[in-house]
Amino acid sequence: MDAVAELISEAGQRLEPKAIITDPREIEPWAADWRGRVHGATRAIIAPSSTQEVAEFVRLAAEHRVPLVPQGGNTGMAAGATPPPDGSALLLSMRRMNRIRTISAENRVAIAEAGVVLATLHDAAHETGMRFPLTLGSRGSCTIGGLTSTNAGGTQVLKFGTMRSLVAGVEAVLPDGSIHDGLSGLKKDNRGYSLDQLLIGAEGTLGVITAVALRLVPDIAARAVAWAGVESPQRALDLLRFLEARTNAVEGFELVPEDSLRLVLKHIPGTRSPLAGEHRWHVLVEATTADAEHDIDAELQRLLAAALEQGIIGDAVLAANEGQAEAFWKIRDAISEAERAEGQTLAHDVSVAVADMPRFIVEAAEQVERAFPGVIASGFGHLGDGNIHFHVRAGAHAAADWYEREGAEITRFVDDLVVAAGGSISAEHGIGQLKLGEFARLGPPARVHALRAIKHALDPLGIMNPGKLVP
Ligand SMILES: Cc1cc2nc3c(=O)[nH]c(=O)nc-3n(C[C@H](O)[C@H](O)[C@H](O)COP(=O)(O)OP(=O)(O)OC[C@H]3O[C@@H](n4cnc5c(N)ncnc54)[C@H](O)[C@@H]3O)c2cc1C
Repeated sequence: MDAVAELISEAGQRLEPKAIITDPREIEPWAADWRGRVHGATRAIIAPSSTQEVAEFVRLAAEHRVPLVPQGGNTGMAAGATPPPDGSALLLSMRRMNRIRTISAENRVAIAEAGVVLATLHDAAHETGMRFPLTLGSRGSCTIGGLTSTNAGGTQVLKFGTMRSLVAGVEAVLPDGSIHDGLSGLKKDNRGYSLDQLLIGAEGTLGVITAVALRLVPDIAARAVAWAGVESPQRALDLLRFLEARTNAVEGFELVPEDSLRLVLKHIPGTRSPLAGEHRWHVLVEATTADAEHDIDAELQRLLAAALEQGIIGDAVLAANEGQAEAFWKIRDAISEAERAEGQTLAHDVSVAVADMPRFIVEAAEQVERAFPGVIASGFGHLGDGNIHFHVRAGAHAAADWYEREGAEITRFVDDLVVAAGGSISAEHGIGQLKLGEFARLGPPARVHALRAIKHALDPLGIMNPGKLVP
């Protein structure tokens, strides 16, 4: 028996039967990444249901030197949860650890196990009059462990930050099977390096997160959602600064190019343009309040009217009701789906300094379209965070193998532009295995050296998600 078979057999003796999945048909959907671009293989999925079981299994894996790939909802965008194709690693699914251990409006903290799905946490917080203020398109499937391990962002980062600012503590099993318990939620704790912070964004390379203490905020009493037309990304940023100078209610601010809006209207049934006229760029604004007395609609309406008067925006419309607000958000959330329906798309999740982003979006798109004639480049998304999804579409003429033939070259071109602008080639999706080559090529040497040293110190046997994140 080889080491992997021995480990599966020993795990079978210690864990309950439903914690060991070896049926290839059950494994198959979890062995490829969400976009279906990277295909791995594994002989088993191990799905423990408690921190003790995770610890016991990790100790066994270390003894047998068998690599583990932690996995939550498998919605990550960098194939970080996809096992290698040679079947040498086992998938460690955290989905059965799905209890909310405590939730307290008074403490403003929820302790959720790693496998809790984000939408479940949203509902539980709402029932206590509180809110977990991070949300994103995958909320119905992504897990707290995966969100923490990728330091996920989403659409409300502007006001509440990424996972890093919403995590109050982490419980994790380290690569030697020991348990780190950081769930006390101490506001002050200066005992040196923060293991919690190291585990956030570690993509499963330093340990297995088993539970997370999460900060809650008071639930919203109302939200106002508006759609505005602007003539350039710079005007969009001007609008954000104009609003921020007058209110602290803005928490969502998404940039949408006309081209993306057209694609959504073409491919996504039931969508319609929020504004009557044409605008080169659009902005989706969401403002919220926790105060039931605060007329947030009236406030946003007044501010947009003032912005219109000052020539910052060309037009704007406020959603008249929740249904219309959802319809505006649907346009934003459906951009990737519409692009897929249109043809092949290369996605880049990049950031530069917020003030530099308007120019970057326009100039980078021009440069890419000049260097690769026929492609269509545009950026959309979280302008206020200096983070856009810079997508390059093949255009109608492209051959079926365009992605394979030209994709890597275009990505290198885009990444070089990002680095030249002082930015990051991964703003919120992580490195995983998809960006590992580019991170090795472009990662600042001091940063890469530190990553390798930390990885080696905490995981000397290299069993935690090898081949991901650390070049
Ligand atoms: C439609 C859609 C929209 C999205 N929008 C956004 C967005 O706006 N912003 C954004 O930041 N991201 C976005 N994402 C990607 C987002 O990163 C993931 O949805 C989420 O963070 C990953 O959660 P998961 O449970 O699916 O993790 P997985 O995909 O299973 O894993 C992701 C990584 O974390 C590791 N991991 C998972 N669980 C654990 C654990 N318990 N312990 C240690 N390591 C673990 C894995 O090994 C892997 O490296 C989107 C994804 C989709 C599909």
